Amino acid sequence: MNTPNTCTTVKPSDLAASYAAAITENPANSAASSSSRKKRGVARHTKFWAPGRTLRIAFLSGSQAFKDGVKAAASQWLPHINLKFEFVEGVEGDIRIQAGEGQYWSKIGTDALLETDGPTMEIGEWMLQPKVFAHYVMHEFGHALGAEHEHLHPEANIPWNKDAVYKAHWIPDDADEDDLRRKTVEERYFNLLDKSEVNYSAYDPKSIMHYQIYQSWTHGDFEIWLNLDLSEKDKAFMASAYPAVDSTVETI
Ligand SMILES: [Zn+2]
Repeated sequence: MNTPNTCTTVKPSDLAASYAAAITENPANSAASSSSRKKRGVARHTKFWAPGRTLRIAFLSGSQAFKDGVKAAASQWLPHINLKFEFVEGVEGDIRIQAGEGQYWSKIGTDALLETDGPTMEIGEWMLQPKVFAHYVMHEFGHALGAEHEHLHPEANIPWNKDAVYKAHWIPDDADEDDLRRKTVEERYFNLLDKSEVNYSAYDPKSIMHYQIYQSWTHGDFEIWLNLDLSEKDKAFMASAYPAVDSTVETI
């Protein structure tokens, strides 16, 4: 069954606040802004946390099995990044996870700082196959660490059969270009990101941040299965975003 992908990302309503939060947390986030400012009139920026810090991750709800599953899968990022995760109970945390009924979403990186209460991430508590559940957790944590969707990479060249994608998302045939549901699908699947938003990495169809793409949604035989593991490029991307801070360098 070609069910729609469930993850949605949450865009900040206040871009200036998003920028300020990102730069205050990690000044290196401003580096992406200069080249694109002319083009869009808005400073784009990355949203990575400060390398070396401990992220407090609170569970707002969920069973013990759910929490254990989230901790195990999320921790697969840790060998590749210079961050620590501290999982805590209660409502206070840099990242706050809500167990849901099948919805998956996350704020991107430091956008989680824009509010101090309520969830910054939701993960379905359905009893999925463990490997599929782990995929979703690693994917949502990818967003929480600052990654965007890989199928929206500026160099992604997916031969979409758009009508098939609309149909799979129950968009009526007569929906016109202003139809909100149609626009939502376009934003989630077709509208590629600006180069400055996904700096320094080539398109990676094996990324954990890629949607599953059914062959029936494309022209020809293009398809992408649900990626179940962090790809080598995923690891390299996050390693460059969260480099080790070398305190042992001697000054001459
Ligand atoms: Zn996603």
